[in-house]
Amino acid sequence: MQEDKKKALETALGKTGDLMNMFEKTVRKNWDMEFEQPDYSRTAEMILRNLEGEDEKQEEKPAFIPPRESADIRLSLDLGGLAADCAKCTRCRLASTRTKTVFGDGCIARPDVLVVGEGPGETEDKTGLPFVGRAGELLTKMLSSISLYRESNCYITNTVKCRPPENRDPLPDEKQACGLYVRQQIALIRPKAILCLGRGASCMLTGQEDCSMAQLRGRFFFYDGSIPMICTYHPAAVLRNTDLKRPVWEDLKKLARFLNLGIAGERK
Ligand code: SF4
Repeated sequence: MQEDKKKALETALGKTGDLMNMFEKTVRKNWDMEFEQPDYSRTAEMILRNLEGEDEKQEEKPAFIPPRESADIRLSLDLGGLAADCAKCTRCRLASTRTKTVFGDGCIARPDVLVVGEGPGETEDKTGLPFVGRAGELLTKMLSSISLYRESNCYITNTVKCRPPENRDPLPDEKQACGLYVRQQIALIRPKAILCLGRGASCMLTGQEDCSMAQLRGRFFFYDGSIPMICTYHPAAVLRNTDLKRPVWEDLKKLARFLNLGIAGERK
């Protein structure tokens, strides 16, 4: 009986896989998008185990579980209120070393793209504005080459709103504590697409914690199952290694084509 159930499930899952392949081929043909292939190899066995109530240890990693927000925090339902909450936030140790919180900047009226970097640097910490140092200048050039401007159709923010001392990477508990702000910003701003810059932001928003940038870049994900999202290298990494310019440009063009934005040097 067990074998019969397993076979029936495997057949059903195989059909689902075929349907997804057909869907992917159609979308790829039109939008040049890539999807993760589903892996059903152990799914039938897992479903059967669950049906029979077997209390086995879960070996597979869940695809993505957003971090839980603590019950003591009430998120503002408007962006101004959220920025004000953020400005006086003391949810993690970075509050004690910051000059200013760096909440975000740009178009908030359903922009084409919401850009998410990792955390503020020295100039950002002084000014309270994201991406205004050398990496910011490069980002502005990168974005304008695909017709994105913070004045009109693009919003820029970071996963962590306070500068980590000596520009170190934010620690996991700092990212966990601050993540609720960027998630609420995305929910309130409702961009048409998201661009993640660098491994920190890409891992956090895709939920793929163990992946390298080479694995994450250039593919479309769906944030919360609905907002298209693409990852690429951080402009600071491009400043350190100019070989990364080409893959970043390829990723930006992919995003621009998806949103039907003008691309520098190409006729629309
Ligand atoms: S980094 Fe985020 S969570 Fe930490 S104090 Fe700053 S705003 Fe609050």
